[in-house]
Amino acid sequence: MSQYAFIDIPFNFRHTCWFCGEPASRSFDFPKNPKNIHFLEHAPMSIPACSECAVVNVAADTASIWAVRDHVKHALMDKYASHLAIGQNWTEEELEESEFSGALLGGFGESAWKMYLIAKQRISYPGWQVAVDGITVEGESEAYGFEFDGVRYMSLNTCINHLIKSLRLDKELLPELVDILGPERLDYALKIGKLNKAIIPYQRNKILDEVRQQVEDRKDIERQAARAGDFTEVEAIQVGDGLATVESIQWALNNDILDLPTLCQQEDVFFDEFAHLGGPQCYMNYYGLQLYFEARQDAKWVEANDPNKAFFEV
Ligand SMILES: [Zn+2]
Repeated sequence: MSQYAFIDIPFNFRHTCWFCGEPASRSFDFPKNPKNIHFLEHAPMSIPACSECAVVNVAADTASIWAVRDHVKHALMDKYASHLAIGQNWTEEELEESEFSGALLGGFGESAWKMYLIAKQRISYPGWQVAVDGITVEGESEAYGFEFDGVRYMSLNTCINHLIKSLRLDKELLPELVDILGPERLDYALKIGKLNKAIIPYQRNKILDEVRQQVEDRKDIERQAARAGDFTEVEAIQVGDGLATVESIQWALNNDILDLPTLCQQEDVFFDEFAHLGGPQCYMNYYGLQLYFEARQDAKWVEANDPNKAFFEV
């Protein structure tokens, strides 16, 4: 039935589709046409597959089983986009508590959550290690995929496109939001996207401006929070014959004095602040701090010698 040697199948998986975890009744022969064997990076192989995965067609020049898998998962994702959207639109509790009728859920009715879970499991199914006659097929990328809400996608882009399609979101808003907020805040970006499905460019720009402002404000708050501490972790620094003491470095940081020119401007303030040490001590403290700030003008020196550098970076 299969054209090539089957990949090695662990006992527990002997009736399982390698692509999606459903019961396997057929095989995916790779390549489907033996004429294309020369495109392959590894030996040709037959893979146990369910009836749906087995019939997915891949390009003639597909080079590896990993590319095949990407393609099969894409096909499943497209096919079950509406099922996957259920979980993105509602939580299980919302579905249970509500009286959604079949019509509202596009005919899924009471089994909606189950349909969602099945689709999600099939897309996320990792398969097992691929080997032919005990020889492992290498090449699966460590960085493979992007996970969101328990579903593994081929990439961040695939995920975004899938969300846009299945939730009928504005095509430009979500990618732009992810650019501003970063992939780690996709959840938040998606919430904004869902609330603003039908928008004109003017509204989209307004939303994006607002989010940009939020990000800026958040950075400010983080910066202030980082500065607000007493810098208890600061270490004294010996530079040449001068010593920048913990107290003087803390004083500079607390007063937002982060470079030599600013320090020089604030010299008098320093001497007022440290007058209680007495003239010579006060001078030695300033001298040490000055040498330290001078040394800090050299980025390489900072990198190699300054245990306090993080305090100056925020
Ligand atoms: Zn399958």
